[in-house]
Amino acid sequence: MEGTYGGYESPARPGPRKREFEHRNDIVEIGRRLYRKGFIAAADGNISVRMEPDRILTTPSGMNKGRLTPEDLVVTDARGRLLYGKHRPSSELEMHLVMYHERPDVCAVVHAHPPHASGFAVAGIAMDQPLLSEVILTLGTVPLAEYGTPTTPELAEAVRPHAGHDGILLANHGALTAGRDLFQAYDRMETLEHSAHIFIVARILGTERPLSEEHVARLRMIREQVGFEPPTRACLNCSVLDEKMAGAGRAPDPKTGAMTFTQEQLVELITDVVKGL
Ligand SMILES: [Zn+2]
Repeated sequence: MEGTYGGYESPARPGPRKREFEHRNDIVEIGRRLYRKGFIAAADGNISVRMEPDRILTTPSGMNKGRLTPEDLVVTDARGRLLYGKHRPSSELEMHLVMYHERPDVCAVVHAHPPHASGFAVAGIAMDQPLLSEVILTLGTVPLAEYGTPTTPELAEAVRPHAGHDGILLANHGALTAGRDLFQAYDRMETLEHSAHIFIVARILGTERPLSEEHVARLRMIREQVGFEPPTRACLNCSVLDEKMAGAGRAPDPKTGAMTFTQEQLVELITDVVKGL
C-alpha cells in the first residue's frame, strides 16, 4: 500500500508535497482517463485538487476534460474566487468546495457521469447494499444526494449532508468521489462505476445476495486496520487537520504516518464507523 512519489496510487503515507505543475499534469492525466473510460462526454465533469488550504486547482468551465492542457486549469481560493488562470472555473466547483470544507482529510474531488453509476442516480437508487466485499473495504456505502439544479448552489447543498462518504451519487445527474490525493479520488470513481455495473448485472440475474451483518462488520474492521480508513488522517497536500482529530490524538506522525490511540478512542472510532455505515 505504501507509495513513493511519482508513481503512487493511493499511498498510505504522506509523500513529499507535490508542486503546482505536478498537480496540473495529474489533473490533465485524470481528465484523459475519465474521457477514455467513457465516464464523461463532451464538456462533462470536473476535477479539483486542494494544493494548499486556500488554493484550489480546478478544471475550466465548458471545455472537454479529455483534451485539457496544464495551462487550461485555473486556481481559486477556498471560496471559489478566481485567483489566476485564463478561463472561468466550473460552475459545479461549489460541490467540490463543500467536500473540502467538510472533510479536512480530502485533497482531491472528481465529478463525472459514468453510465452505470449515473443510471442508479437517475433511477433514484443509492448504492448502499453490502453486495461486494472489495467495495465495502475501499469505498464504503454510496448514498444518493437529492437533486440539485446544476450551476446553482442547490447542487452543493444537496452534497453537504453526505460529505462524510467517499463516493456520492447525485440524483438525475452523476457521481462524485473524493480522496486524499487525485489518484485515490479517481480510483474511487472507477470502483464506483465498476460496482454499479456488477450490481446491475446481479439485478438482471435476479438473485442479489447481500453480505451478512457479521461479514460486513468484519470487513469494516479490516478497513480500519489496513488503512482504507475514513477521515482520520490529514490531507496529503496541505496537511489541514481537523481540530477535533488533532485534539483526539488522531493526528498522524508527520514522518511515519503512524497514529496512536487509547483503547477508548479506538472503541469510539470503530463505533463511529459502524454507525456511519
Ligand atoms: Zn455534472
